[in-house]
Amino acid sequence: MAQTVQTTYGSASAGDPYTPTGGNGGYTAEHYDLTLDYRVITNRLNATAIITAQALMRLDRFSLDFAGLSVEKVTVNGARPTKITHSARKLVISLAATIEAGAVFEVVVRYRGAPHPVHSAWGDVGWEELDDGVLVSGQPCGAATWFPCNDHPGDKASYRITIACESSYTVVSNGVLSARSSRSGRTKWTFDVREPMATYLATVLIGRYRRRDLAAAPVAHSLYFPARLATRVGTDFARLTEMIAFFADRFGPYPFASFSVVVTDDELEIPLEAHGLAVFGSNHVDGEHGSDRLIAHELAHQWYGNSLTVARWQDIWLQEGFACYAEWLWEEQRGGRTADALAALHRGRVAALPRDIVVGDPGAHDMFDDRVYKRGALALHAIRKSLGDEAFFAALRAYTAARRFGQVSTDDFVEFFSEHTGSRAIGGFVDRWVLERALPSL
Ligand SMILES: [Zn+2]
Repeated sequence: MAQTVQTTYGSASAGDPYTPTGGNGGYTAEHYDLTLDYRVITNRLNATAIITAQALMRLDRFSLDFAGLSVEKVTVNGARPTKITHSARKLVISLAATIEAGAVFEVVVRYRGAPHPVHSAWGDVGWEELDDGVLVSGQPCGAATWFPCNDHPGDKASYRITIACESSYTVVSNGVLSARSSRSGRTKWTFDVREPMATYLATVLIGRYRRRDLAAAPVAHSLYFPARLATRVGTDFARLTEMIAFFADRFGPYPFASFSVVVTDDELEIPLEAHGLAVFGSNHVDGEHGSDRLIAHELAHQWYGNSLTVARWQDIWLQEGFACYAEWLWEEQRGGRTADALAALHRGRVAALPRDIVVGDPGAHDMFDDRVYKRGALALHAIRKSLGDEAFFAALRAYTAARRFGQVSTDDFVEFFSEHTGSRAIGGFVDRWVLERALPSL
């Protein structure tokens, strides 16, 4: 019998039904080193991505998510692939030499073009030109519009992001600004993200921003904003230090090296969270604390979403429900309505809506539905009421510590909280508020 030569391919999907074409099988990304040379005026990008990955199986071929830009050259471990196929969303690389399971390999992709958003079920996502600058909104599938990647929250990696552009602009990205140098009217900015980061939370913000550093504790935090909004931003973010300290007390230490807020000159439909960052539009600052709720929400995502990240999108209530509950906690803390009053109010509002989704698996189309946010928050409030404040917040701090920088799921949450608190009621609360359609009483 002739020996069969087995060829193995990493599948071109992470297998998440919410983003069926997103992510890739067969390997895990360990580090992205991105060098972007960008012209704001013409929206032209010349870039190199060096991706360090580990094979999870024997690989003769694998794929990356990559959309809208032209690939100039690819090497894998220094060698040219035998074949490269670039479709609308995937870069498929056939290897000259098989990579063995467990081996670490390096992919270099040189690429260029005019980056632009891609259409998705949730609107346009990705690299987007502002009136005078750039914004990247990656959730859930926009990362591939500016770098080749394994675009799924289940595969986090560390990053170095270097961006050069016209010196008249300020560049903000994730992590710590580790170098900056200028030459011939262009400035190069280098950012290091040492903690594992999900692809959708990688971002670049370019604009004519002023920077104001706020306190260095509990974590260094800064504001970036257009000069015309200085007064309003100063007022609206005056309590940010206090808010970080409050959440650190309730949720455990702030997870990353810094926190930055960017307020764009453009209006934005909704604020965005990114790893170590929150982004607001000019319409979100009114100089009267009108966006306190949104500031609390985006800040809370640093713990729930960015440090503790869902392994599959269906569990997104573990990010949005928690961020929504953080809004209520903050309002209670600053002497507004209590979480109890807010829970009653929102339960009433949810009661007026159809009960046609399961919050713990709402379907791709409804993953950002308000009921996911509100019933998720209500589940947490019900658990808090049953445990009492001391036990509830102790469990929350233990949970964010135990799952720091990792992946979370609904089952894991129930198991962790049940074990940590010794309460047998946790699973029931999650069942009623998150996994069943009927709406329970508070
Ligand atoms: Zn959110």
